[in-house]
Formats: sequence, structure tokens, C-alpha cells
Amino acid sequence: MPTLVYVEDHEGELVKGSLGVLAKAAKLDDDVVAVLCGAGVEGLAEEVGRHGAGRVFVADDPALEAPLPQPRVDVLAKLVESEGFDTVLFGASVLTADVAAGLAGRLDAGLNWDLVDLERQNGKLVGKRPALQDTVIVDVGWKSEPRLALIRSGTFEPSEAGGSAEVTKVPVEIQDWSKQATMVEQAHEESQGPSIEEAEVIVAGGRGLGGPENFTLVEELAKALGGAVGATRAVVDAGWYPYSTQVGQTGKTVSPKLYVACGISGAIQHKVGMQSSGVIVAINKDPNAPIFEFADLGVVGDVHEIVPKLTELVRARKGG
Ligand SMILES: Cc1cc2nc3c(=O)[nH]c(=O)nc-3n(C[C@H](O)[C@H](O)[C@H](O)COP(=O)(O)OP(=O)(O)OC[C@H]3O[C@@H](n4cnc5c(N)ncnc54)[C@H](O)[C@@H]3O)c2cc1C
Repeated sequence: MPTLVYVEDHEGELVKGSLGVLAKAAKLDDDVVAVLCGAGVEGLAEEVGRHGAGRVFVADDPALEAPLPQPRVDVLAKLVESEGFDTVLFGASVLTADVAAGLAGRLDAGLNWDLVDLERQNGKLVGKRPALQDTVIVDVGWKSEPRLALIRSGTFEPSEAGGSAEVTKVPVEIQDWSKQATMVEQAHEESQGPSIEEAEVIVAGGRGLGGPENFTLVEELAKALGGAVGATRAVVDAGWYPYSTQVGQTGKTVSPKLYVACGISGAIQHKVGMQSSGVIVAINKDPNAPIFEFADLGVVGDVHEIVPKLTELVRARKGG
């Protein structure tokens, strides 16, 4: 039986994390099916096909406009039952966490969450899940079908292979109880530049910056590099920077091409959120800081001296 991947969209664009899950599913199985749920999403099906799905089911209905879980659970439950999917995969997000949990309840299915990899062992699907504060990776499985899994955001990179998918429209029937929750308001955080999940460059700041006012150093460098700003839990807990920028075990998992860590010690809980970055550059005044054990390039020095110089150099290089 094929695997179904829930492909999330946000404001007319496909969410990178779910396309990454689709790419991984296509590596594991030849027959991968995707489902899109929303209002005005039919036009996105072609793009889903280019990202590895052989077939795309499209549930396109005004009832699915608000990003609420229960109407999506109705669509998915019906689809899984009628088509007999044995596995349903989700890239983790605020919405999909609720959809996956709701679907598990509805289908009496097992859900493994926070997975950082999937593999086949003798044909059997096995999930990899960090445990004990991310210090070990354990194998997890399912006792029955369908198997549901939520994959940590940013774990897999999307791959645009260029195929085309067979598109099937799904009739949308929403249960009365699923209409009980309505969306009253949706607020957007004001931000500039790329989001931390999508950015190819992240410049992150830690307690070594010395205070919230010094985050301007990090912001300037991020701006010069065309990247986003990240932070450690220590600084977001201290109120120096917003929680939405926290990278790590209890924050976001990111995998930019370049990660510049400024005044960050490199605690394991931070490391697990950024270790799959392409190139890691660390600036820290302590030569024994743990971050130097896994950085590709280390600068031992004071962030207040190094970061402005680096920003100047990047600006000069870009201007030249
Ligand atoms: C259950 C749990 C979950 C957690 N989840 C997360 C998480 O998701 N993300 C996360 O980040 N943390 C997380 N933590 C916290 C984590 O253990 C660390 O406490 C945190 O990452 C440390 O942040 P930091 O590197 O900013 O601060 P510190 O560890 O205090 O490091 C500051 C660094 O700055 C350097 N420094 C100081 N001054 C300068 C200077 N002038 N120039 C250059 N370098 C300087 C110091 O040498 C030091 O290495 C979690 C902890 C627990 C227990």
C-alpha cells in the first residue's frame, strides 16, 4: 500500500518541511501519494508532483480555508479508509501536530512524533527519534496500520525532481462537530527578511552578546548576508529576543547552508537544532567552548569586535 504525505500550504505556498518529508518518502517507496487540503489549493498540485508525488489528492473547499485541524481530519480519515493507505506522514508544524493527533484518535492509529529519520529495515518502516534530551537516537515502530508519523521540522530537504502527478479531486464532507471551532482572528508577527525555517543563512546570537541591545550586531550581519536571525534558549528565556527565533531541542530545527553562531556555547540542546547546517561558523571568546567541537570554522575572539568587522567585510564584498 502506498504512503500518504500531507503537504501543508501557507498563504498560497507549499511549506518546505512537508516537501522535505515528501522527498524522503519518495526515496523510501516508489509509490508516494500526497494530499493537499485548503481553499484555492488546486493550483499547487503540479508543484507537489514536481517534488516527488506520483499522485496528488486535492481537497479544495472554502470549509478548509482556516488552518483548523478537525475539517482536515475528516478529509484524511475518509481518504485513508477509502484508499487503504498504510502510512501517513506529516512535516511537524503547529497545524499538523493537531491534525496528526486528531487522525490518530479518529482511526485508532499509532502516532510517532518528533522523528528525525525514517528507514526500511527488512522492508519494515522504522522511525528514528531523539530521546534523553536528544543525547541518543532510538528506533521506533508501529504495532498496527495505518502508521502515522510527525517529522521534526527542517529534517529533510525538498527535492524538485521534475515529475508530474496524476491529480484527483476529493469530495469534502465536514462533520458537524468539526465545524464547532471557527477562526476568529489571525495575527501576523511583523518581521523582515526570510523566516528562520526557510533561510539559507542564519546568524544566531547567544548570551555572549552581553545584552539584548547587542542583538543589533547579529541583525546587521544577518542583513548583510541576506539571512535570518536565530537565538539560544538562554537569551529568549531572558527576554532578549522573541521565542519564535529559538533554535534547538525545544525550539526550531534548522538546516541553512550557513549558520553563524555568535557568543553561543554549543550546548547539546542547541546543537540538535542546527547541527545539520551546511557550514557552521562559531565566534566565541572561550577556546574551549563546546561549539568549536562541531563548528567547521571557529574564530576565538570577542563578538563585539569580530561581528562588526565581519559585517563590514561582507558589505564591502557585496558592494564591490
Ligand atoms: C530540556 C532543555 C531544553 C533546552 N532547549 C534548548 C533549545 O531549544 N535551544 C537552546 O539554545 N538551548 C536549550 N536549552 C538550554 C541549553 O542547555 C543552554 O543553556 C543554552 O543553549 C545556552 O545558551 P547560550 O549559548 O546563549 O549561553 P551560554 O551557555 O551561557 O554561552 C555563552 C557563550 O558565550 C561566550 N561568550 C561570552 N562573552 C563573549 C564575548 N564577548 N564574545 C564571544 N563569546 C562570548 C561564552 O564563552 C559562552 O561559550 C535547553 C535546556 C534544557 C535542559
